[in-house]
Amino acid sequence: MRRRADQVADVRSPCKTRFGGKANPDLDRAAAVTMLERNGATGRSDVARIGQITRRGMLFGSGAVIGLVAGNAWAPGLSDPAGLTITPPWEGGLLLDDASGMQAAPVRAHVRPRASGDDLVAAFRAELAIARRDGRPVSVGAARHSMGGQAIPKDGTAITVDDARIEIDTAAMAYRVNGGARWSGVIAALDPLGFSPAVMQSNHDFGVAATFSVNAHGWPVPFGPMGATVRSLRMVLADGELVTASRTENPGLFALAMGGYGLVGLIVDLEVEMVKNSRLAPEFSVLPVDGFPQAFLAAVRDPAKAMVYGRLNVDRAALFEEALLVSYAPTDDQSDLPAATGSGVVSHLAAALYHAQAGREGMKRWRWQIESGLAPAISGQSTRNTLMNEPVLTLGGRDPDRVDILHEYFVPPEAFGAFLDACRAIIPDTFAEFLNVTLRYVDSDPVSLLAHSPTPRIAAVMSFTQERTARAEADHRRMTQALIDRVLLIGGSYYLPYRPHARPEQFAAAYPRAADFAAAKRSVDPRLILRNNLWDQYMGVL
Ligand SMILES: Cc1cc2nc3c(=O)[nH]c(=O)nc-3n(C[C@H](O)[C@H](O)[C@H](O)COP(=O)(O)OP(=O)(O)OC[C@H]3O[C@@H](n4cnc5c(N)ncnc54)[C@H](O)[C@@H]3O)c2cc1C
Repeated sequence: MRRRADQVADVRSPCKTRFGGKANPDLDRAAAVTMLERNGATGRSDVARIGQITRRGMLFGSGAVIGLVAGNAWAPGLSDPAGLTITPPWEGGLLLDDASGMQAAPVRAHVRPRASGDDLVAAFRAELAIARRDGRPVSVGAARHSMGGQAIPKDGTAITVDDARIEIDTAAMAYRVNGGARWSGVIAALDPLGFSPAVMQSNHDFGVAATFSVNAHGWPVPFGPMGATVRSLRMVLADGELVTASRTENPGLFALAMGGYGLVGLIVDLEVEMVKNSRLAPEFSVLPVDGFPQAFLAAVRDPAKAMVYGRLNVDRAALFEEALLVSYAPTDDQSDLPAATGSGVVSHLAAALYHAQAGREGMKRWRWQIESGLAPAISGQSTRNTLMNEPVLTLGGRDPDRVDILHEYFVPPEAFGAFLDACRAIIPDTFAEFLNVTLRYVDSDPVSLLAHSPTPRIAAVMSFTQERTARAEADHRRMTQALIDRVLLIGGSYYLPYRPHARPEQFAAAYPRAADFAAAKRSVDPRLILRNNLWDQYMGVL
């Protein structure tokens, strides 16, 4: 009989027993998302948040209402995947998938310790002891939104953490947070006290330790990746030892863990820097794409700016001709900041507009007009926390035969034009539908061994929707490898939490210290207990 992940957790998790097995609706939802159902996996977050309307939501939502009506005039030019969608092999055991919906792998157990501090240390140690005894791998994950098995231990024990204990030290401008806490929980804790996360992703669903482990970035400026804002952490190594690591204590382990995809230790908690929350006013400018890098860098370097991002138009006929530069600066009045909200019900409309672009070039142009034309007219002030309090829901599609796949390339600013040329040459021919590109700034990361941005970069976050079919996968792999070849030629790199489509030599070229990372990992974890698909596919062979 097939066992579900949550049943396994009931049996296996020592902490669950200790804490009385209280239901955690968020985690149960996460498990429901990550575990493949036999007849159709979506792998997407489907957490409905009906809340208040933010400016950001309003921007998309208002366009969505008009656009969805008008959109029917543009018939979707999508292929029919009937009968072709990928069905994972299943022989009666546990299968664990991630947000790709195409990475299902067998795991021996999926445990979800509902614990923090010493109890979480004990839970990690218990799983590691079993894994060492059985010679099996362990990997810990949080929201499981990575897309290439980066948190899946094939035939091993998957641990999912979701624990939101946060202690705020206002004098130190930092907070100690459990690794499994989600950013939504961090914002909820910091906001009433007038503080805000310094760096997080553009959505709030992800785990804090996971964010450190992929060394993610966001759109607050002028920061480097999130690891730059972590002062110290505690983690359990594969042999069960609990260590503290920082830039001064065990700095080698700190550099390995930052952007280390959970391959060095299981992070229990972290001390993370915060900044003051603030009321921000937006400024929009639409400009020809050639002038974008200069204008973007000027905004990033302007000390008056707190958050900056860019967008480019994505319709094939005029691909990347125009750029939108959006920046937010604090207003004169910082009194009585309103509580952080989310975009709530409007997110559903935004998601609908976003996905209505698939196969509809006219809809892509429509969305660009909404963003570049309507936005300046209707967008207003917002707080930093509200801008960052956005669920992934706004990006999730509803078609079970398709999946949204992200790419991200870290481009030296001086090579931005060459990067766009590469994209123009490669992307229009692809089978996947190109929906969006957002541009962010990432300052240099001098610490992490697997640094995606060893020098300052413009990060191009690209979103595609593709069929969940072998033909679409093959074509997506072809496109990704072609893009990475061109990005490497111009001195850039690609981001590791997405589809594992790079060739091994491309990985080694983009991450020139990966062999050092692998050697150091082997010395800390000689039996290779902490493993996931990133190790199996790329680093294990170095
Ligand atoms: C819709 C969407 C939007 C995104 N936006 C951004 C963005 O704005 N900026 C950006 O940089 N990235 C972005 N990403 C990528 C995202 O940051 C990563 O996929 C991130 O890993 C997701 O967090 P998670 O909680 O789902 O991590 P998971 O997929 O659960 O885990 C990711 C990695 O962290 C490790 N890990 C997790 N918890 C621990 C722990 N306690 N100890 C040790 N290792 C651990 C896992 O083993 C795994 O290798 C986005 C992804 C999606 C799907």
